[in-house]
Amino acid sequence: MTRHLITSALPYINGVKHLGTLVGSQLPADLYARFQRARGNEVLFLCATDEHGAPAELAAAKADQSVAEYCAEMHAVQSKLAEGFRLSFDHYGRSSSPQNHALTQHFAGKLAEAGLIEEKLDKQVYSPTDGRFLPDRYIEGTCPNCGYERARGDQCENCTKQLDPTDLINPRSAISGSTDL
Ligand SMILES: [Zn+2]
Repeated sequence: MTRHLITSALPYINGVKHLGTLVGSQLPADLYARFQRARGNEVLFLCATDEHGAPAELAAAKADQSVAEYCAEMHAVQSKLAEGFRLSFDHYGRSSSPQNHALTQHFAGKLAEAGLIEEKLDKQVYSPTDGRFLPDRYIEGTCPNCGYERARGDQCENCTKQLDPTDLINPRSAISGSTDL
């Protein structure tokens, strides 16, 4: 008997996922987990909601909730969906769990000890109206490649082209809609 640790890509917390997430990521991992269990192997099949990064903050603000409230609610919704589709996860956790924070800090600490982390300066867009710096995803505008009017500062969802916020035509804040950037 061999031991298998299986994960599927962690679905992002900002809303109910489309069927592509199920078909393209979770179902193949589920199939493989079931196959290994049927062969008599020991399997730990893990998944979790990814609750870090700008989109969680943005989705929570749109729902008029704190990030913690929003993530707790959406995690419950996504867990229930996984159950409904009978995905055989042994554990469906959260990237915001204290266990995950401790593990991540452990690895980051090891990398820092080995001198593999360096500090760099980066330029960011500032919005006086919002009173804050805006991450790439917080900036929307027209895609220079295909003309899609709701392209994000990191990527156009219409033509999938990778972008920088400065590539966008008529850039605006995704929070306030302000063009004073
Ligand atoms: Zn585009």
